[in-house]
Amino acid sequence: MSRLDLVLPALRGALSLVSPCDCAGCGLGDRELCEDCARRLCPRVAEGALPDGTPLRTALVYDGVVRDVLIAYKEQGRLRLGRRFGPALAAALDAWPGVPLLLVPSSAAGRRRRGYEPVELIARAAARPFCRPGLRLRRATGVQKGRTRAERALARHGSMRASRRLSGITVVVVDDVSTTGATLAEAVRAARAAGAEVVGACAVAAVPLAVRRSAAPATAALASSLNVDGQSGE
Ligand SMILES: [Zn+2]
Repeated sequence: MSRLDLVLPALRGALSLVSPCDCAGCGLGDRELCEDCARRLCPRVAEGALPDGTPLRTALVYDGVVRDVLIAYKEQGRLRLGRRFGPALAAALDAWPGVPLLLVPSSAAGRRRRGYEPVELIARAAARPFCRPGLRLRRATGVQKGRTRAERALARHGSMRASRRLSGITVVVVDDVSTTGATLAEAVRAARAAGAEVVGACAVAAVPLAVRRSAAPATAALASSLNVDGQSGE
């Protein structure tokens, strides 16, 4: 890691705290987030399941203002926006009161680029405890864009492992963005392999389940047999 890699994320974060900026959702001047856009971050909890039957709850639809604000938070160094997602995540986690979270890790490149773990700051804002150390990536999965769902599923499978034994620990697996659920499915697999009891999976924002089902039905059987169905929004 170069010195620049270390300095740039810190500098971006510091600037985001002191410089005036436009609304991350609509561009309205001189405010972090306007009232209209803030309202779009009110939870719209949806329930579903991963291919292995693990209950899945998502707080927001990954679209429009939600997507724009998450991109500003994750890719433009606007760290303060993370706390705006705390209430939505807390609402989605209502089904599992008091259960500690097991957070999905960023890729090494993502962590280096940002200097922080986006999902961790949101979990803190949701006032929920999380396991540390938790999961880590055992290998990079490469660029997922342009891959079919089945290819993405294959790339994800076996890509994570727990940093320690999790026997006797009950957890909810949490990611910030889930486009198809594959990363969550892989995190659930890795957690169970380490002995954890996984009661559910949760994403702050996700592509609606109906959209997922309509995409590439021919690969569904293969993806299902792998216990994954695509990739995350990472
Ligand atoms: Zn706005």
